[in-house]
Formats: sequence, structure tokens, C-alpha cells
Amino acid sequence: MSKVIGAPADTEAVIGLEVHVELLTASKMFCGCRNAFGAPPNTLVCPVCLGMPGSLPVANAKAVEYLCKAGMALGCTIAEYSKFDRKNYFYPDMPKNYQISQYDMPLTTGGSVTLPSGKRVNLTRIHLEEDTGKNVHAGESIARSAYTLVDYNRAGVPLMEIVSEPEISSAREAEEYLAELKAVMSYIGVSDVKMHEGSLRCDANVSIRPAGARELGTKVEIKNLNSFRSVGRAIEYEIERMRACVREGERIVQETRGWDEGSGTTHSMRSKELAHDYRYFPDPDLVPLELGRALLSRWRTELPELPAAKRTRYVRDFGLSEYDAGVLTSERSDADFFEAVAAASGNPKQAANWMMGDVRKVLDRAEMTLASARGRPEQVAALITLVANGTISGKAAKEVIESVMIDGRQPADVVAERGLAQTSDAGAVAAFVDQALHANADSVASYKAGKEKAFEFLVGQVMKLSRGKANVEMVRGLLKERLG
Ligand code: ADP
Ligand code: ZN
Ligand code: MG
Repeated sequence: MSKVIGAPADTEAVIGLEVHVELLTASKMFCGCRNAFGAPPNTLVCPVCLGMPGSLPVANAKAVEYLCKAGMALGCTIAEYSKFDRKNYFYPDMPKNYQISQYDMPLTTGGSVTLPSGKRVNLTRIHLEEDTGKNVHAGESIARSAYTLVDYNRAGVPLMEIVSEPEISSAREAEEYLAELKAVMSYIGVSDVKMHEGSLRCDANVSIRPAGARELGTKVEIKNLNSFRSVGRAIEYEIERMRACVREGERIVQETRGWDEGSGTTHSMRSKELAHDYRYFPDPDLVPLELGRALLSRWRTELPELPAAKRTRYVRDFGLSEYDAGVLTSERSDADFFEAVAAASGNPKQAANWMMGDVRKVLDRAEMTLASARGRPEQVAALITLVANGTISGKAAKEVIESVMIDGRQPADVVAERGLAQTSDAGAVAAFVDQALHANADSVASYKAGKEKAFEFLVGQVMKLSRGKANVEMVRGLLKERLG
């Protein structure tokens, strides 16, 4: 490929993410309606969230607490004084014709998200707002639908918006950023962060510029991203599209583009020329928020150990790799399970191997999670101990784990039932070894002639004779002795 000055290879991508997270409060942001996903349409509504004249909003204290805790977990500065503003626009899913949000005085500013590489992506702000209802287009597709229905159950659900600085450099970093945010939010329990249910949503702002330039290029905002994968794919697509634009000498226009999962492309939805003027102004129905220091410091003490701290501890105290520590800590409940196995078995390394290996495998096969599985940490630990004290082989343990995790059986019972205990009786093992040596004189000869492979063959023969029950370490030791 020939290199042309100013060609795409000389550009770099700049990405900023706006992430919306629905908060896991019992009730909505400004009324007492239940905050729940999946109820029959328009059953979780009242005059306040339907925007009836004369109804008055009251801020949900739990939502404020959750947002502040999220902010603390990400190292943000919590504002001592904050207020709610009305963001005015007309759309059928928003019955008041304005959304209560925060404009110039968000609850938090600053903070950062650390990526696995150690790179820190700074946050601009996190603010509190209310979610809108949901338009449901009847028919197969928007283009073909005859009419649109509106479900207001989601209208007024507490929502926090986490805005990053334009400091993310690739699709991969964007996915890592999201993964870390998701982990932090689920650890502190402020959201169930399910992208497929919309409790975690992400808009990606993308631009390109000459590599090393300081000035930002014209950005495009991508909407309709419904999974981590689509965030990554859409960003990759958009960077390539922009590079092609530059290559063709075309101007990149500032616009909002929609991601189409099926075709794997983005399309223009609206250009900046048509952008809204939201005419923000302070909501006169809501008092400003003034959070005392005492309250904030109490909330701070209620924060659990966060994923980053856990990862560091796993590497330091358990000797795990960064990668393994990352996998084990991505969900708090999984991390708790692993720690319980590690503690009960006294063997963190083995606990990590089992959790990331065979335990995960049998759960995936059964489409179960650790939470829905019947096996408990003590049982996994008991299995690890059975291997460690030589009662069963590692291979036999792999046969037991499924009954333990899926059916909740005790490992010792399964071992007894299936006769999996291995023979560590020296006399019995020695008899198998001698029998194998006798029957395979040619292998013995080739081992003595320097063929290392013959040794493994002999081990296999002994195991076969013992029907897999001879303690394999013992077999190896005895074989070495006899052959050496
Ligand atoms: P807008 O006024 O369009 O809402 P903001 O300045 O509020 O834009 O930024 C919204 C998001 O877009 C932020 O996450 C920010 O980091 C990101 N962003 C802003 N400018 C750019 C750019 N040139 N390239 C990529 N991302 C950007
Ligand atoms: Zn309501
Ligand atoms: Mg903005």
C-alpha cells in the first residue's frame, strides 16, 4: 500500500461516551410509582409522571444517594449545591413536554474511569434526570408500522447520565470503558445495568483528526447502540466512514447517526442544523439539593470494595494474573463466590482455575449463572480438597463438577457413587506398574533409548490397567524408579 500525505493512516480517532444508567430505586424519580421493567404497558403511571396539570414532583432521595455513590466510586467531586432544570422539547414519549434534568449545576463533576491498560478516561459530569416513556412502533418495522403506541411505565424512572471527556481512542477502549462502568455500577448496586433491557444505554460521539493534533474534529453522535458489541462495531464503522470521507475530499458533517445492527452500518438521522434549543431553565417546582458533609461521608463509608481494588488484591494476595483478576471481578456476585471458594479451600489459584474453567463451562452449557446454580462455594472447595489430598484425580474431578454445580450434589457423594476414588495403596499401584512394564517391553526399550514419549505411553498403560484409578503422581514416581 502506498502512503499518501494526509491519508487515513495519519488520522486518529477521538471518542466521547454519554452513558445513561437507570437507577435501581423502588419508586420513580419524582413520584411514588413503582420503578420496574416489563410490567404491562401504562400500569405504572400516575398524574405526576403523566405530566397532568397541577401535579407536583418530589425528588427521590434514594436516587440522589445512588448517584452520589456512583460519583464517589468514580472519584467525582460531589456538588454541595445542585439543582434541577427543565429541558424543553416536544416528543410523544414525554408527556410534560419537558424532561427534568440538570443543566449547569450537575450533582457531580470530574472523576475518571481506569481502563485495563492503566489509561484514565476523565469524566465531565454525572447528572440526575428522569427517563422518558417508550414509543412502540406497531408492525414489523418503523418504516412499515401503521401507528405508534406509547408506554409511559418508563417515564420518570431515575436516570443518571455519565458524560466522558473526548479521551477514548478506539472501539476497544470504548468497550473497556463501558465494561468498567458496568462493573462499578453493579458492585455498588445502584443499577442492574442490563444493556438488553435498556437500564444501561450508550451514545457514542466520534470524530477523527490528524494524528497528534490538539484540535478536535467534527463529531458525529451515534445512537441506537444496544450491546457492547454494537458500540464497538458502530465506532469502528464510523471511524472508517470518516476516513473514507477525508480520503474522498468530502467534508464531515456534524450530525446524529443511527446504528443499524442488521446491516452493520450507520445512517444519518438529523444534522446539527436541526438541533434543538432546549431553553433550559430551573424547575420552579423542585427545591435545590444541598447535601451536608455528614450525609456524604456516611454514604462514602457504605461503599463496598470496588472492582479495581479487588483486582489489585487478587494479584497481590492470591498471585493471580491481571487478566484472571479482571475476569473474576467483573461481577460482584461472581467475585464473592470465588472468594468463598478460595477461603474454604485455602487454595486461591485452584479456586480461580475452577471458576474460570470447568465451573464456567458447565454453567454455560446449562445456560445458568452462579446465582441460579445449586452448587455453593463450599462444595466447589470440597472438590478442590479431594484433588489436593489425592482422593481423586483432576480428571475425575472434572466429571464431578457438573453434578455439584447443576444438581447441588456433595462431591464426596458423587465420588463414592461413581467409584471415582483413586488408589493410593502403594502395593496395588506397584502391581499395575509392573504389569504394564512387563506387557510393554518394546516401550521400555525405546524409553531407555532416549524416547521421552514412551514414558507417557507407559503412564497411560498403567492408568488403563487400573481403570483410571491409580494415583497418577504415584504411578509416575514408581515408573521413574523402575526405569531409572
Ligand atoms: P453536545 O453539545 O453536542 O451535547 P458536548 O460537548 O456536550 O456535545 O459533548 C457530548 C459528548 O461528546 C461528550 O462525551 C464529549 O466528550 C463528546 N465530544 C465532544 N466533542 C467531541 C469530538 N469532537 N469528538 C468526539 N467526541 C466529542
Ligand atoms: Zn408516577
Ligand atoms: Mg451535551
